[in-house]
Amino acid sequence: MFDVAIVGAGPAGATCAAFCADAGLRVLLLERETFPREKVCGDCLNPSCWPVLERLGVAQRIRALAHGKLQRVDFVAIGGRRVSVDLPEDAEIAVKRSLFDQLLLTRAVEAGAEVRQATTVRQIAFARDAWQIGANDETLEARIVVAADGRNSSVARLLGALPRASKERVGLQTHVALPKDFGDRVVLQFLPEGYSGQAPVGGGELNVCLVAAPRDIEALKNWAAERFSLTREHSWRTITPLRRAPVTATHRRLFFVGDAARVVEPFTGEGIYYALHSGELAAAAAVASIRAGDDAEAARNYAAAHEQLYRGRLWVNRIARTAVLSPRATSLLLCAAVIRPAVLRALTAKIVGR
Ligand SMILES: Cc1cc2nc3c(=O)[nH]c(=O)nc-3n(C[C@H](O)[C@H](O)[C@H](O)COP(=O)(O)OP(=O)(O)OC[C@H]3O[C@@H](n4cnc5c(N)ncnc54)[C@H](O)[C@@H]3O)c2cc1C
Repeated sequence: MFDVAIVGAGPAGATCAAFCADAGLRVLLLERETFPREKVCGDCLNPSCWPVLERLGVAQRIRALAHGKLQRVDFVAIGGRRVSVDLPEDAEIAVKRSLFDQLLLTRAVEAGAEVRQATTVRQIAFARDAWQIGANDETLEARIVVAADGRNSSVARLLGALPRASKERVGLQTHVALPKDFGDRVVLQFLPEGYSGQAPVGGGELNVCLVAAPRDIEALKNWAAERFSLTREHSWRTITPLRRAPVTATHRRLFFVGDAARVVEPFTGEGIYYALHSGELAAAAAVASIRAGDDAEAARNYAAAHEQLYRGRLWVNRIARTAVLSPRATSLLLCAAVIRPAVLRALTAKIVGR
């Protein structure tokens, strides 16, 4: 029997697996895909990620990956007016998720976690004082389960705990050739139908994300095709929902982490930060639960620490969501200089922890 089974090897799951294995637990990490794989994401690492990456001992290895340096954010209104905000020096970078997630997975393996890729969890139940996990025609046993399986969490769905999601918007993502003179910047561009985020990821590539209501996404794809000289057949990865209520764990030996626990507005580029931190917090809870044997206390402590992680940051997320849901109104405010650079600087500083 494993001490901990972690479902999903994204940043939340791989981080949790590495910390659990470092602490000497028997760890099983189950992943549906085969890595390396890309993911719908802006690829931007918020500077608040670095403390966890340092504690994992991978910060230098991440900086050695192909990456784009991000020195400023350009907010671009419909019609082209631009407001620039500087980012802290050398703090924010963009790395392709295929490279970033692979490195974290390698770190988990180095720590001693058993990793099974191309393994989709399809059943889960608590019986005989352990979790019984059905994956690839096999039943695996673990004392604790960590659900790190993203915004459409199968674990939450299988346990009847996945809240109904809003399908009001869809996210698309791709990598394109980096336009000449793009510069070391993130572009957050409001468009009549939604918005686009763009960030250089190194290796001569640019990450392009599009977010809009499903009925408007074709218009955004047409805009991107023209802006970046893409063919009609250019393929985009897609994801939904961009918003849903948080999941609450229903069992004291079950922890939800990253997007599986709570989905935040992509515009602020904080999802990986929450994934890494909640993965670390869940590992501490799992270690305490196994070592001290007090499951209820460990579950209470995790719930409190998880709540604390989001407290004081979510209001920026709400502002961002309001802004992106009304791109025309936000553009008008930007053009009329009602949203002053100083205000954008203050909000950005809150997000990047300056
Ligand atoms: C358009 C967009 C842009 C974004 N841009 C940024 C950004 O620039 N910066 C940022 O920090 N965040 C960004 N985010 C958010 C970020 O992508 C997520 O918050 C982050 O990926 C969450 O990590 P995670 O480990 O919780 O989940 P995920 O990265 O989703 O990983 C979950 C893993 O679980 C696996 N899985 C799922 N189901 C099963 C199953 N049944 N069995 C086994 N495995 C399973 C999946 O294959 C996947 O590998 C963006 C999001 C969107 C939608």
